Amino acid sequence: MASPLLRRHKPPSRLHELVKAPENHPASIERRESWDASRPATVYTTPEILPDGTPCTAATVILRTRGCTWWWKSGCTFCGYFNDVRDDVSSDDLFAQWEEAKRRTKNFEGCDMVKVYTSGTFFEDKENPVEWQEAILRETHERGLHLVVEAQAHLCKDEKLAWMASIHPGLTVAIGLEAYDDAVLRFHVNKGFNLKTWNSAVERLRFHGFRIKTYLLFKPPFMSEGDALGHSIRWIKGVSPLSDEVSINPMNIQKRTIVDRLHRSREYRPPWLWSLVEMIRESHQTISSGDSRVIVHPTAGGKIRGAHNCGSCDKDVVAAIERYSVSSDLDEFSNINCSCKSIWHDEIRSDCALPVQFGTGLSRRGKLQRLLRAP
Ligand code: SF4
Ligand SMILES: [Zn+2]
Repeated sequence: MASPLLRRHKPPSRLHELVKAPENHPASIERRESWDASRPATVYTTPEILPDGTPCTAATVILRTRGCTWWWKSGCTFCGYFNDVRDDVSSDDLFAQWEEAKRRTKNFEGCDMVKVYTSGTFFEDKENPVEWQEAILRETHERGLHLVVEAQAHLCKDEKLAWMASIHPGLTVAIGLEAYDDAVLRFHVNKGFNLKTWNSAVERLRFHGFRIKTYLLFKPPFMSEGDALGHSIRWIKGVSPLSDEVSINPMNIQKRTIVDRLHRSREYRPPWLWSLVEMIRESHQTISSGDSRVIVHPTAGGKIRGAHNCGSCDKDVVAAIERYSVSSDLDEFSNINCSCKSIWHDEIRSDCALPVQFGTGLSRRGKLQRLLRAP
């Protein structure tokens, strides 16, 4: 008998429908459609740094949109943004969400930067109405707010970029590259574009005078901890000279994604915090000597679904990583230690010595005896 997840009124006609079974399950759709389309998903403010290096406050506005066109066709293996979107969002809804974001931040009081995140590509007309894109570009420019928007590389087309530059010159376009490696992009991330496309997008963005922010993903699925560490050090070296800012996002498991399913079936463990510390140590020279800013932000750090260690040292290690992002001083890590570091170290050594694709480490933290007894 088919599992309840796959049981449906008519049999799936495409493999894609089976892969996306949890995302397209009636309960997921019902949850998505229960959101109020006139209210943004999240609005918050954080300390940030302006392009000229001045510290400032940035407002982040995450909107409920129709979502990423790539996700509806196929989608990245780790991306849970679809949880926040609904396919009937109208132009009026988006304007209402923008007004609500302003209300919640007292009209961006004290902010010099606004990050407008649309769970996809800000300037893709199928995702967001053109009149709304234009209104946001114009308003932020007129108010002197530095704007950050997100995009997929293959959608950075000359005509669209020229149009944006005519309304809001010099804004930042953030691209989720995730991996500086074509095989990883294709087989681990299912990114939908390759490095050649990303390189041309970077050239075009520069030509139109935009700033470039690049996201890298630490430990995509189907990869061992040891490989993730080695790759990320190489990727930082590769993308830093081509970006104004590099943000390394250690995997955090978003609900109902492919990575979520791997994690539940004990075939994926989010990265160790020690791996992030090692990556920072090994990349410190690149980070401190280059022109681009490199930030590591462990979302859900210390939690089971985010980058974590043994449970007792997590808080201190996350705090040291956060401090390093501000100070760029390796001394932040000099006084932190824990007995779990040797377990992590053995795992990295075995991963690099043995041909085990998913790695040699345990899928969960906790006492070895308890994990072995668990079903
Ligand atoms: S391109 Fe971005 S929004 Fe679209 S599926 Fe991939 S990560 Fe998600
Ligand atoms: Zn520990």
